Amino acid sequence: MKIEGIETYVVEQKLDTPFYFSQFEFQARQVCLVKVIAEDGTYGWGEGYGPATVVRAGVDFLAPLALGEDPLHVEAIWNKMHLRSLDYARRGVLVAAISAIDIALWDLRGKLLGQPVSVLLGGPRRERVKVYATGLYFTDTDDLIGKLVDEAQLYAAQGFRAIKMKVGLGLETDLRHVRAVRRAIGDDVELMVDANHAYSLNEALNFARQIEPLNISFFEEPVSPEDYEGYRELRLRSPIAIAGGECEYLLAGFRQLLSKRCVDIAQPDICGAGGLTEVKRIVALATAFQTNVIPHSWGTGIAFAAGLHLVSTLDPLPGRLRMPEAMLEMDRSENALRDTLTQPQFKLEGGEVAMPTAPGLGVDVDPDFLARYTKGA
Ligand code: CA
Repeated sequence: MKIEGIETYVVEQKLDTPFYFSQFEFQARQVCLVKVIAEDGTYGWGEGYGPATVVRAGVDFLAPLALGEDPLHVEAIWNKMHLRSLDYARRGVLVAAISAIDIALWDLRGKLLGQPVSVLLGGPRRERVKVYATGLYFTDTDDLIGKLVDEAQLYAAQGFRAIKMKVGLGLETDLRHVRAVRRAIGDDVELMVDANHAYSLNEALNFARQIEPLNISFFEEPVSPEDYEGYRELRLRSPIAIAGGECEYLLAGFRQLLSKRCVDIAQPDICGAGGLTEVKRIVALATAFQTNVIPHSWGTGIAFAAGLHLVSTLDPLPGRLRMPEAMLEMDRSENALRDTLTQPQFKLEGGEVAMPTAPGLGVDVDPDFLARYTKGA
């Protein structure tokens, strides 16, 4: 069996309500999807995290390396793509392009072998995965606190047992927001904060100390992803667990983060950090450093399905009879691509999502929605 075709689709949805976080504003959601097709017509889907047109250019560059290869040789193809791009892409969007092809290959291999990706990864430890809601972005409104409180209460009412909110607008504003949301959702729902690297070390430390009484499960991306020493010092002094890694790439990048003991929780993005092949290696490295992995996930149902399969195989650390639950991020911000492009839809029940059971990733792209959202189609 050979790989016969690799297609890319840049899909876009203009947002009804633009939103922003500590770094910039989103007017639209845009993703590059990749379809890898075997000579018998079987296909797999992947996607890259990052600027979609740049991911597409990366896939165009890498595709000749995979075409004609055996689609079961997923790691061999990964190694070939990595070696060919290493001189230019020890980080960044070309790694996301590798990730997109790699995820499609795992989906394709699963379909060819008649097995879910979770089985190929080593076997699921659970049939349902705990998810946390990511939302509480900022919008232009006269009552931002009211908007955040309503949204947090909605997630709690939907059954989420953990919610992550955005911070990074400034310490006083952030404190008001986090206090209001904690008060609104009560003490039974986990709450996390994400600064998207908006703080200096001193600001982050000050903030961590001030929100400690609010029982915050982790503080995500407090400082610049380039500031490994800042991460390390913050982690040593912070009363709250530190999470990060969505801007980190490849095993070698995570070695920096892990060996310097920068984070309590590593958050590789499967669609950015190197695909399922490399994130499986990153999980192994994190395990050696007794660091739990909670993948970053901010894409379509393809990205989410890849996350579910990976997280279903994770054993949280340290091992014990009554273990904490492995967890996956579930973006709740406006995103029709995530909500309509793939079938079947994921359903939240009791703060968990059931694993897809069909071979491969267990999701397929709806051709009508693909045509509707593909740019230039
Ligand atoms: Ca984040």
